Amino acid sequence: MPSSLANVNEALLRKYILGCHIIHHHKVVDAYGHLSVRLSESVFLMCRYMAPALVARREDLVLYSVDTGESLQDNAPRGFSERYIHSEVYKAYPNVYAVIHSHSLDVVPFSLLPSTPLRACIHIAGFLGTAVPVWDATASYYHEHPDVDRSMLVNNTDMGASLAEALGQGEDGLPANSVALMRGHGYVCTGDSIEMVVAKAIYTAQNARVQMTAVGLLAATSGQASTSDGTAGVQFFDDREAGDTGRTTIQGAAKPWPLWVAEVTGDPLYRIEL
Ligand SMILES: [Zn+2]
Repeated sequence: MPSSLANVNEALLRKYILGCHIIHHHKVVDAYGHLSVRLSESVFLMCRYMAPALVARREDLVLYSVDTGESLQDNAPRGFSERYIHSEVYKAYPNVYAVIHSHSLDVVPFSLLPSTPLRACIHIAGFLGTAVPVWDATASYYHEHPDVDRSMLVNNTDMGASLAEALGQGEDGLPANSVALMRGHGYVCTGDSIEMVVAKAIYTAQNARVQMTAVGLLAATSGQASTSDGTAGVQFFDDREAGDTGRTTIQGAAKPWPLWVAEVTGDPLYRIEL
């Protein structure tokens, strides 16, 4: 179990920093939002309280306990108040190895409309299935804690555990859903590697843009939206289509990574100084 950054493979640190840069480059995060990676059953790594685009050095990285969500280092720099999203997802799902929390404005609208769930619309995002669950901080936590400040921030282990539960218990230590939305806030995305969680986070936002465009197109052409076979409305993926395309995405997730690395490596905003 790594208890010091000195014991962590440099290639993994580099990949983590690249992941931070890539999710910023693809607008999954801005100054807020974060990526973490599990190092062992009981330890995970994430950057200190800073914009992911600016993560560059070992001093920017902190080891945390899965059990408590607290730093394992003496004199650790300030961390994110929402690190409990990560610790509790790792605790609930032992085969999740990377987590992203995003405030993507493309995705947030779908957290506000119970009748219109985010769902798979493009083949590369089949992993979203036919209805991404929405976690509501007020309904799930605040209503039992009426005196707690309703900042909507997941800033303790109980809230993190509640959010993690919303992903649904699946098989083999994995959640039933890769992604859960957070009402009026953003989403949490899980994967079995940094590459996978980055891919899923990017394609979740892309899917949301396509879904929003399709629904808007339908509204704009209302009255003319019937097709020759008499069907109407947005032709979302069904369960089988979402399941089959989701498996294809998982098999091909390594493909875009070299392109994404090249994009950020060629941009002077993003630095790696290990
Ligand atoms: Zn947040």
